[in-house]
Amino acid sequence: MMTQIAERPTWMSEDLDIFRDAVARFFERECVPKNEQWMKDGQVDKATWRKAGEAGFLLASTPVEYGGAGGTFAHEAIIIDELGKAGVDGFGIALHNAIVAPYILHYGSEEQRQKWLPRLATGELIAAIAMTEPGTGSDLQSIKTSARIDGGDYVINGSKTFITNGQNANLIIVVAKTDPKLGSKGTSLIVVETDGANGFRRGRNLEKVGMKAQDTSELFFDDVRGADE
Ligand SMILES: Cc1cc2nc3c(=O)[nH]c(=O)nc-3n(C[C@H](O)[C@H](O)[C@H](O)COP(=O)(O)OP(=O)(O)OC[C@H]3O[C@@H](n4cnc5c(N)ncnc54)[C@H](O)[C@@H]3O)c2cc1C
Repeated sequence: MMTQIAERPTWMSEDLDIFRDAVARFFERECVPKNEQWMKDGQVDKATWRKAGEAGFLLASTPVEYGGAGGTFAHEAIIIDELGKAGVDGFGIALHNAIVAPYILHYGSEEQRQKWLPRLATGELIAAIAMTEPGTGSDLQSIKTSARIDGGDYVINGSKTFITNGQNANLIIVVAKTDPKLGSKGTSLIVVETDGANGFRRGRNLEKVGMKAQDTSELFFDDVRGADE
């Protein structure tokens, strides 16, 4: 017996069809013509991030009260799908929208949500999450990056690698040990706004076999202050 493959997922609706069309048209118009240059540069230009924000595609599933478009994960899935279809998979919106923003939405304080989410929605802030280190990938408990409290600030030291949006990002969630004795409970997520952050440095934008337009990079933290847990 042959199994019929559905052409259209059952969760799609008329509204989502309209959203999909708008996303596809945006990528076709704003991204496809620039993709070759992005692949040469190893990164997407910041102006296009802003345009995606103006079009309502940044923070598509974040509530409207925090500057998002008030959609669901279905909207994010459509964006991811259309990025692939348009061949612009180096544009790190999926990580910005569907990984970093939800961390802030679900684990941040109300003050932190108000402070960061609206600026992520416009593209003023571009997000990254820095977990992986030169010596640690899957086994996150083995990270060496540390954060100690000093004078009311977290002070971060360590290095990260393979970080998506690493050249463009100016809001980075850094995974750091705040108490090495406590295992996973002593491992914290600390937000760093990197504009003007002393001791923060971007390393190499890494060569990859694919996703050439994505700025997958090394990051270095040398007594970086002014971070929020
Ligand atoms: C394009 C790209 C973008 C990335 N973006 C980010 C980012 O934004 N932020 C970030 O923090 N990191 C990022 N990474 C890093 C990615 O998260 C790590 O590569 C991943 O966590 C695996 O770590 P590793 O490469 O050190 O492999 P390892 O952890 O060394 O694993 C190597 C292999 O061993 C297997 N393995 C590991 N442990 C076990 C176990 N206990 N049992 C069985 N098998 C095991 C793994 O499945 C894998 O096949 C990115 C990587 C790439 C390639």
